[in-house]
Amino acid sequence: MSSSPQDLAALSRADLEAFAQSHGEPAFRGRQLFRWIFGRLESDFERMTDLPAAFRERLPGLARIGVPRETQRQTASDGTVKFLFGLGSGRHVESVLIPDFDATGAAGRVTVCVSSQVGCAMGCTFCATGQMGFRQNLTAGEIYFQVAFLNRESSTLFGRPVTNVVYMGMGEPLQNYDAVLQSVQLLMHEEALGMAARRITVSTVGLAARIRRLADDGFAGNLAVSLHAPDQGKRSSIMPVNRGTRTDLDALRDAIRHYTRTTGRIVTYEYCMFKGFNDSDEDALRLAGVAGWAPSKVNLIMYNPVPGLGFERSDEQRLNAFIGVLVDREVRVTVRRSRGQDIDAACGQLATRESG
Ligand code: SF4
Repeated sequence: MSSSPQDLAALSRADLEAFAQSHGEPAFRGRQLFRWIFGRLESDFERMTDLPAAFRERLPGLARIGVPRETQRQTASDGTVKFLFGLGSGRHVESVLIPDFDATGAAGRVTVCVSSQVGCAMGCTFCATGQMGFRQNLTAGEIYFQVAFLNRESSTLFGRPVTNVVYMGMGEPLQNYDAVLQSVQLLMHEEALGMAARRITVSTVGLAARIRRLADDGFAGNLAVSLHAPDQGKRSSIMPVNRGTRTDLDALRDAIRHYTRTTGRIVTYEYCMFKGFNDSDEDALRLAGVAGWAPSKVNLIMYNPVPGLGFERSDEQRLNAFIGVLVDREVRVTVRRSRGQDIDAACGQLATRESG
């Protein structure tokens, strides 16, 4: 009976040990495979020189290493680089490398924005990925390797490794819960990238039950919740997820309180500023109310308009007035300027064109 080769990049370290044992090798061969695959990014079994020659020869018949392949990159005038990766399925995902330069021109912080799914089932009306619908989940390895490859690119391009990872690319990370958590473990593993948990942020559209589960599972990274509207009616009109009673703002409030109480950490609310839709003083007051649910901060995002979706970015004057209302109510607030505006860097735009 023949079976298709197992994808070793989708396995945890413990699974790799079990894989080695199931083929008559000691468990430590699995740990060697882990170091080659996730630490040295090696996908050619022949080059894994500390494995016995006989095992190396058998491996291509037993297993494969499903790593994404770069198929395209675009560099913006602000230094942001967007990568398109081809998956084994033939579909594509995108990842973005975002450098922040200090006054001397050196890169201080370098952030990777990573995708967790091809497409997305959540259907947010302002988002290019949301218009694609859901295509597939990524494996933990496919998520991890986006970061690992961009980490290498960051050292080449900016002279320093990646400092922060945000799960804010294509997809709803908590719909691909197990692979996302496994990829976070990989990012943190000392024989892989060894990143600190505080450098990793998982973003969700607000799947309340999964937020509770994150807290209960001891997730160590940061949590960001895409809020984008401060009341039930407006939120439901742009984010279909809010129309269900188990994922509406009330459910979200209870889940966030559970999360902050259980973890002792704050939550970040992401709030895209849409001109004339959610940027009035009244909206800011309501947003301040949401921010008061639990220890939190608010990140205001200057929206990168997606052609044909009908949303525009708020102007600077409105932004400043909005911030003023929040600050008066002692809300912690930061502003994120859109990056890579000349390279389709709004979520999902590059891969949407490629995948059709
Ligand atoms: S904003 Fe995020 S959750 Fe909403 S459709 Fe786009 S990718 Fe999915």
